[in-house]
Amino acid sequence: MAKITLDNLAHSYYPNPKSEDDFALKELNHVWSDGEAYALLGSSGCGKSTLLNIISGLLHPSQGRILFDDKDVTQATTADRNIAQVFQFPVVYDTMTVRANLAFPLKNRGADPKYIADRVQQIGAMIGMEAELDKRARGLTADAKQKISLGRGMVREDVNALLFDEPLTVIDPHMKWELRTQLKSLHHEFGHTMIYVTHDQTEALTFADKVVVMYDGRVVQIGTPQELFDTPQHTFVGYFIGSPGMNVIPAEVAGDRAMVHGTQVDLGKGYDALSGKVEIGVRPEFVTLTEDAGLPVTVRRVEDVGRHKIVRAELFGTDINILADEDHNISPDMTNITFDPARVNVYVDDWLTSGKAA
Ligand code: ADP
Ligand code: MG
Repeated sequence: MAKITLDNLAHSYYPNPKSEDDFALKELNHVWSDGEAYALLGSSGCGKSTLLNIISGLLHPSQGRILFDDKDVTQATTADRNIAQVFQFPVVYDTMTVRANLAFPLKNRGADPKYIADRVQQIGAMIGMEAELDKRARGLTADAKQKISLGRGMVREDVNALLFDEPLTVIDPHMKWELRTQLKSLHHEFGHTMIYVTHDQTEALTFADKVVVMYDGRVVQIGTPQELFDTPQHTFVGYFIGSPGMNVIPAEVAGDRAMVHGTQVDLGKGYDALSGKVEIGVRPEFVTLTEDAGLPVTVRRVEDVGRHKIVRAELFGTDINILADEDHNISPDMTNITFDPARVNVYVDDWLTSGKAA
């Protein structure tokens, strides 16, 4: 198991990158703790696989260094880094049995046959394929083959890190949940450093201790699910995490007040003069629809989603979402919204700016 340090790391797929735009991965500096479970979350094309492949050694970065503990592994091969990686699509030996596929990484490293037999049995159970261990991989479904790939990734206990790149894409929804739970328990049992790439926030939030949110080649925030919810460091995090995501509203901010189209909004903190694109961010959970004074809205639609209602409304021509309790009656007289001042974040050029206690 290892602590992973990304030092001044950046990557461009072009031989002579001219500007920042040419970098699939913009410069980043981070230390990922030993034994923690991380999810790398972001939309397609934001650089998740690029970063993962640099960590595993499949790709050599155009700039910077990677350290495992204090050892520089930037030029080391994947085998020398001693990591296991599972990809989006199955990588299995078709002519071998499931058992032989699972045993392969252990055999390769010269493990004791008795240990191999036991460990393969255990992993077979974990992926729900105990009954198929002696079948050849060839005839199996894509779903089953992917489970073998996952099992192969998990079979070695002595790896420095376990890396997963959207491993559950081809797995059916029920099994997805099951396998994610298994991965989590595996993490608790062995304390591997795990990095799990996904574009699905539910997957990221349920799997990881820390979620690494990427946007446009940059790591915009590393935080616990709670931190990402409470204090999104970037408007993208606010918008991407949560359903619906955070509302972002253009505003003018002065002291502990914001003005939105001439209407005053109280903020929980005080701010110095701000320059740039100023916006306030407030999650639908902290917006209240009311008959009393506030910001004027037009309700477009109310969606009942079980435990609560999502109210889709319009505020000065832009969409705004409100989360209301299930038993909250929404009357036509409710034409205003108010915010919980303590839950209003202020953003300048998309980055969170901290205020002073008011
Ligand atoms: P993600 O895994 O988040 O979907 P990737 O890391 O695969 O994103 O890709 C990041 C960016 O780098 C994208 O713009 C993608 O088109 C580009 N890219 C990825 N792989 C290559 C490659 N082998 N050659 C050139 N560009 C690539
Ligand atoms: Mg990818």
